[in-house]
Amino acid sequence: MTDEQLAFDIEAMLHASAVEAAPGWSGAPLGFTAAYWPAVDLEAAHEHWQFLHKLDQSRTQSRMWHRAIAVPGSVAVGEHGFDLFTADLRCEPWTHGEAHGGCQCVGDLIYQAICEPDGWHVIAGDENTAVEGWHDHAFPGWRELPIVPARLRSVDQPGLSKAAKKWIAEHYPPPMQVVGAPVITERSNGGTRHVPGRSPWAGYDISHTAVEPNLRVSQRRSRAVSREPTRPPTASLGPALGA
Ligand SMILES: [Zn+2]
Repeated sequence: MTDEQLAFDIEAMLHASAVEAAPGWSGAPLGFTAAYWPAVDLEAAHEHWQFLHKLDQSRTQSRMWHRAIAVPGSVAVGEHGFDLFTADLRCEPWTHGEAHGGCQCVGDLIYQAICEPDGWHVIAGDENTAVEGWHDHAFPGWRELPIVPARLRSVDQPGLSKAAKKWIAEHYPPPMQVVGAPVITERSNGGTRHVPGRSPWAGYDISHTAVEPNLRVSQRRSRAVSREPTRPPTASLGPALGA
């Protein structure tokens, strides 16, 4: 027996007794759930699963909710909260070979946005859709916000240029210029991910494809010009925070 094997066996023994000594689990389910759970409970359950399966190399996917990389912690937005979780429902090819008759997995990477103060959540098949759903909840009317033209993008640096910030300050309704509020920016093909923390108020920079998915840049430009005077009044944009 090698030293490594001995060390592993001892660790496995200690782990087994730690699992045995642990009190019974009464938190969020230790597997996939579509029910609402506060972020802290989802995190605790995921941690507990990792503890239970620490030495189990046959299962690396818990199917459980854990924080999405893009948004590592809770964000307070007025009286709302924002947490973004993901669950991996894709198959693990190495756990079932030909012998198992092929893949039985439901299979995808899915996302969940949570507003804990309201006990609210939405589950979606992709990150952008989950983010949009949360904005429907916390910033009703955001889909009517003006689209920041791509020509205002900074060439040398990521994020919003000075010109873009100025344009936003002039064009965005004041009730929507509050902490955590989003902006919508015109993107080029491929760069259509919604980016957290990039609005002037640390809210999302949402890709224009969320509200005008089929519009080409050239079409949008000409439409934007004719459309500008008929923008809805700011009062129709609903309360951004609280209420
Ligand atoms: Zn809320």
